[in-house]
Amino acid sequence: MTRTPRAVTIVGASLAGLNAAEALRREGFDGPVTLIGAETHLPYDRPPLSKQVLAGDWEPERAALTDPEELEEDGIEARLGVRATALDLDARQLALHTGETVEFDGLVIATGARCRTMPGTEGIGGVHVLRSLDDCLALRADFEAMPQRVVVVGAGFIGAEVAATARGRGLDVTMVEALPTPLSRVLGDEMGEVCAEVHRDHGVDLRTAVGVESISGDGRVERVTLSDGSTIDADVVVVGIGVIPNTEWLDGSGLEVDDGVVCDASCLAADRVTAAGDVARWPNELFGETMRVEHWDNAAQQGAHAARRLLDAAAGPFTPVPWFWSDQYDRKIQLAGRVHGDDEVRVVTGSVDERRFAAIYGRAGRIVGVLGFNRPRHVMRYRALIEQGASFDEALAAEY
Ligand code: FAD
Ligand code: NAP
Repeated sequence: MTRTPRAVTIVGASLAGLNAAEALRREGFDGPVTLIGAETHLPYDRPPLSKQVLAGDWEPERAALTDPEELEEDGIEARLGVRATALDLDARQLALHTGETVEFDGLVIATGARCRTMPGTEGIGGVHVLRSLDDCLALRADFEAMPQRVVVVGAGFIGAEVAATARGRGLDVTMVEALPTPLSRVLGDEMGEVCAEVHRDHGVDLRTAVGVESISGDGRVERVTLSDGSTIDADVVVVGIGVIPNTEWLDGSGLEVDDGVVCDASCLAADRVTAAGDVARWPNELFGETMRVEHWDNAAQQGAHAARRLLDAAAGPFTPVPWFWSDQYDRKIQLAGRVHGDDEVRVVTGSVDERRFAAIYGRAGRIVGVLGFNRPRHVMRYRALIEQGASFDEALAAEY
């Protein structure tokens, strides 16, 4: 029989974990709250790592999400530089990499995700991934040396944002994408092509529908070989080919893991155990779809929901309209909803040629997504229609 936990341990000291801790206190929970994080830094925000911090416009401290005083005031104990290595649900114990075993009562799993890497690139200088502050500072140092040729592998979010930031620093950028159209899985072909054009307009040499065979060099990277046999000279390579949820430490715990920690609609993974953020997979009843979302807003909201669920079985299902933004050059690109490649897409305001517009996506008679290029107000208004389950016709008729 489930009960409210007397103490809560949160594994993963980043956006979802910190939001869970803060929500516990907001909800009036007065038991011990412990935040266990593998990184040595206090929780910080990742979005500036591909934008302002990488550009050199912000020092890393500006990305901090909290400070020691705030944590102390909230009575949140942060154990940093400590990795959880195993979970024993029956004994309600966590094993830590230090060899320690710690007891827990309530648990929030918020271990996020890590970058996929290209095999064979280990130990080659100048080849980067971008997830952590340390990754960002290493890449920034390489950018500051003004390399002649930057190659970005993958034109997903990391690739697109790093390419834009590198161009902003005046660097020569080639971006390689295996898909015929970048971001087509997230935005559909038509709007993915608009993004591709934005990069070409800003001088990125974008190569699509071609894979990367190898990245090589003698100690330091020298070239990237593509699957069509061609080569690109490179001084710095950034690999942005997606992420893997951090779940290995849960192997053998009895929790169901399937590309993320499998939760019920309320984010509960087991008795007094919830999961949130990039690591969590749950059925979003608003969309009738099981999802794992890799964006900022979801990590923040789901962290708070996972905390509320621990305290109150009546917290209900977690039913957000997923939403993200991406800053590339002078464009703020935002998408709310869940878009499939074959959805109907209609521009509802502005001009695609001027790259200032909003487009909505329809499926089975309903509005399921909205994309904005420098149109934040429209994105939020159509997002509300998605939340209400409005029909596509109703959305098309709306005058915003
Ligand atoms: P994470 O931020 O991945 O944090 C998980 C934490 O858990 C990490 O600190 C990790 O070290 C720790 N951990 C892992 N395993 C263990 C363990 N076994 N024991 C202890 N600790 C562990 N989203 C947007 O919507 N807009 C943006 O513009 C945007 N920009 C981004 C830019 C970059 C460079 C990156 C990397 C992401 C960006 N995102 C953006 C995505 C957003 O930052 C993520 O969705 C968010 O960080 C997920 O938060 P999280 O807390 O779930 O996981
Ligand atoms: P991503 O957005 O998933 O994009 C990865 C891209 O690389 C996809 O286009 C993918 O194509 C391609 N790819 C996969 N394997 C490849 C390979 N072997 N060779 C070449 N291309 C390959 O992931 P990401 O850009 O690496 O970003 C990492 C994480 O950070 C994601 O969780 C992302 O959401 C988050 N992030 C978010 C933002 C934002 O929201 N603004 C900004 C930065 C980062 P396929 O689709 O065919 O696999």
